[in-house]
Amino acid sequence: MNSLYVHFPFCKKRCFYCDFYSTTYGHDVMAAYVQALEKELRNRQYIKGTRVHTIFIGGGTPSLLPSKLLKELFCTIGRHFTIEQDAEITIEANPDDVTSEWLKGVAETPVNRISMGAQTFNDKLLGLIGRRHDGRQTVDAVSACREAGLRNISLDLIYGLPEQTMDDWRSDVETALGLNITHLSAYSLTFEEGTRLEAMRRKGLVREADEELSRAMYDFLLSETKRAGFLHYEISNFALPGYHSRHNSSYWEGVPYLGLGAGAHSYDGQRCRRANLPDIKAYIASAGDVPHETEVLSDDELYNEFIMTRLRTAKGIPLDELTPEAREYCLSMAAPHLSHQLLTQSEGHLRLTKEGIFTSNDIISDLMK
Ligand code: SF4
Repeated sequence: MNSLYVHFPFCKKRCFYCDFYSTTYGHDVMAAYVQALEKELRNRQYIKGTRVHTIFIGGGTPSLLPSKLLKELFCTIGRHFTIEQDAEITIEANPDDVTSEWLKGVAETPVNRISMGAQTFNDKLLGLIGRRHDGRQTVDAVSACREAGLRNISLDLIYGLPEQTMDDWRSDVETALGLNITHLSAYSLTFEEGTRLEAMRRKGLVREADEELSRAMYDFLLSETKRAGFLHYEISNFALPGYHSRHNSSYWEGVPYLGLGAGAHSYDGQRCRRANLPDIKAYIASAGDVPHETEVLSDDELYNEFIMTRLRTAKGIPLDELTPEAREYCLSMAAPHLSHQLLTQSEGHLRLTKEGIFTSNDIISDLMK
């Protein structure tokens, strides 16, 4: 096992577009939850003392964790694993949680990377998607992190927001890149079933961005990140050299990882996946014997995952890692896309071209079995 993910499914309030598992319970439940993480670890199968190269505390909103509980969490991790000296240790944060008090608490843990949900710097748009911070707070939070010695900072942005214009997006990208961050993730808004934003769309209160505008926004993102020296290493991810997310890359490269917490997923690096039930109360009540589902992937499912994850990355699909039959199938399905220059084949890898990125979902589904 290489990577450890800890899911912290608590939020102060729900953003309108979000379909991640999280709830708005209070402090007492958080304390019980952190204790339950220790119990889960005692029950999970792994080799005590295993070296971990990356740790990701994600959510939900882990920046809501009081310092005492955050320290307790890292004590738990330290009791069970050996954290590599150069490990990448990320915590997700909401900009308005990044106070000097919070940063003081973080400094007492091994956290060395912050992933902050900016989404946009435009206050009107932030209100429209139900975020609880404003643009100024994100700018201040990034400076505060840097002053506190946390220099490896990633921001998340969303494009294609309702009412977002090309000028709004230009300003978001320029503001983000002007903050001396090391990593940028930018996702196109999706209207997920069951979210408040999707309900608003159905009622005609908001509209999806048109495809042409979304493309223009993505194009601008590509050119500006390139100009700023960022490498485009995955469809939605950009990093200064040496600052790609090692944790997320391990997901895309099929490296084994252990996921702890309600709703967390794990993978053994072979063909077994495990998903903990997304239910905080059941998680805490389970006393470590966490309700979960396991799935053993068939050969076709393994192939499909390989295609789906690798093709999203700049490295592409390493054809020599496929069986001869799978390679032949993959290349035959890729042929029309190669001839339309949506894919390229070089140095034993199949990769999306810039034009191919815009239809990547269709291409991936064509290559799958
Ligand atoms: S986007 Fe983040 S902060 Fe907002 S509801 Fe989802 S998990 Fe919580």
